Amino acid sequence: MDHSADASGLLEASDVGSQKERVVTEEEWLQKWEMGNIGFHKEEGHPLLQKYLDVLLNGRSGLRIFFPLCGKAVEMKWLADMGHSVVGVEISEQAVKEFFSEHSLPYCEEPVPEISGAKMFQSTSGNISLYCCSIYDLSSSIIGKFDGVWDRGALVAVNPCDRQRYASLMISLVEKNSSYLLVTVSYDPNKHKGPPFYVPESEIKTLFGNCCEIRCLEKVDDFSERHRQWGLDYFLEVLYLLKVVA
Ligand code: SAH
Repeated sequence: MDHSADASGLLEASDVGSQKERVVTEEEWLQKWEMGNIGFHKEEGHPLLQKYLDVLLNGRSGLRIFFPLCGKAVEMKWLADMGHSVVGVEISEQAVKEFFSEHSLPYCEEPVPEISGAKMFQSTSGNISLYCCSIYDLSSSIIGKFDGVWDRGALVAVNPCDRQRYASLMISLVEKNSSYLLVTVSYDPNKHKGPPFYVPESEIKTLFGNCCEIRCLEKVDDFSERHRQWGLDYFLEVLYLLKVVA
């Protein structure tokens, strides 16, 4: 299979156009959770986080790590068990509750005074805090800043029209020199409407390049039957390391 067009950037620009206008509403995300339509969830956790854990931690312990658009990602439990403090944000209360119940973690819930209608679910041990609200309602004055970010199924789930806003918010939430691991996906965007959306490398540079050093760490084949059913014939995951420098 020839992915050279993608690798060289030839697929970019015009071909992304077909996804540019697409909007997935919060209501649609809630429905996906209600219907159990959550093929994005990885029961076993993500191999790239396992592989690049040292890059995320960079020899440090007791970090504050942020999971944007967290779903019920099991990696939150991994990191908490290693002694880090995990904060996630997720629009679906069902997802948040499933996270705690599937890991048999007792939790308490409380309103977030700054955000109308938002709730914060916190493990009784105190090291996992999941905000149930839209990420756009958060700011560093509410949740503080982070030493590390695991962004998988997050930027690629954000509506294309909201990407700049999302990137600016993320940059405002990370401490300088912290490690932001970003996983994007690459496939022919003319064959699948997303999410996940195809975010080309050129756009990563536009979104983050002003403030961050960007390094592509790995591209891995992640093609599966699910992607074949979408009509695709290749599907890659691309891992970047972003370091906020400015
Ligand atoms: N990162 C998770 C989930 C990926 S799917 C994983 O790797 O499994 C994207 C998730 O974002 C969904 O669970 C959806 O409910 C949530 N979401 C969508 N828009 C959101 C928003 N504006 N704020 C917070 N969560 C949102």
